[in-house]
Amino acid sequence: MILDCHMHSWRYPRHFRRDVMLANQPARRRSWTEEQFRQMWELPVEHYLEEMKASDVSRALLLGLKAGPTLGIEVDNEYLAGLVRERPDVLAWACCVTPTEPGAAAEVERCVKELGAVALGELGPVYGSYRLDDTRCFAVWEVARALDVPLVIHAGPAQARWGHLKYGDLTAVDEVAIQFPDLRIVICHLGYNRYEEAAFVVAKHENVYADISWLPQLAGFDRRALSRYLPQVEYGWYHLVHPLLYYFTQTFGLTDKLVWGTDFPAGAPAKGIETVLGVNRWLKDHGLPPIPEQSLHRLLHENWRKVFTKLADAGR
Ligand SMILES: [Zn+2]
Repeated sequence: MILDCHMHSWRYPRHFRRDVMLANQPARRRSWTEEQFRQMWELPVEHYLEEMKASDVSRALLLGLKAGPTLGIEVDNEYLAGLVRERPDVLAWACCVTPTEPGAAAEVERCVKELGAVALGELGPVYGSYRLDDTRCFAVWEVARALDVPLVIHAGPAQARWGHLKYGDLTAVDEVAIQFPDLRIVICHLGYNRYEEAAFVVAKHENVYADISWLPQLAGFDRRALSRYLPQVEYGWYHLVHPLLYYFTQTFGLTDKLVWGTDFPAGAPAKGIETVLGVNRWLKDHGLPPIPEQSLHRLLHENWRKVFTKLADAGR
């Protein structure tokens, strides 16, 4: 069974701060009408469910996002809980908070106990301007540990114009992993773009994992979607998911620590699976040794069970 452990849904204008969103747009879009922005940003969950039907994904984890002041997107927990109530057969959800805010720990507890959240994320230190190892966050990490829900963290840099890159520090994950050895942590996008540091932190801690979401698209394998963000050039070489997968699984031996996700809409389910299944063809074409098929199977079908235990236990 394949779990897409990283995807999104949001609505425009409900989840947007227009002034901040505009600041992140290229100049040519600043005069766009509301209707043009609505067409670009509207992301009802049905868009995903449609793509899911054309893939081997059995269930998808909807992640929250609290990036109002930097990216202009702030998805409320009630919205996500409501979507899962509609489709509990194929969806699950992760609540999100800004962990330095008063009441954040109580909100996580409410979301897990009363609304059925199975994880906490997508936390974004750059999006929310905090360090993960700020002791003001510790009450939140303690609640997650006590309730046995993993943290899903976009721990590295992020593109939002007003986000402070100084908070995209992977050593802060290391600190949290030391302080909370029983708390499971997933580093999103293999730590984009601090891959070496992320591999080291994942290897160092039993309780730290990484997801490969977004990277197939960044590397240029989903051309249609990619064109929305980046020029279609060999830019992908730096982020190319094939050598990255080789590096994480073979150089660092992290075959049981990687989980698969799309970061939809920044990546589609069928294309993402196809990329993983095609990795050895690419490696062969480039004169590199293959990744054992067993490692790829684990990445898609098995590793998520150790991280998202509430989904694995329930057999849901
Ligand atoms: Zn994401």
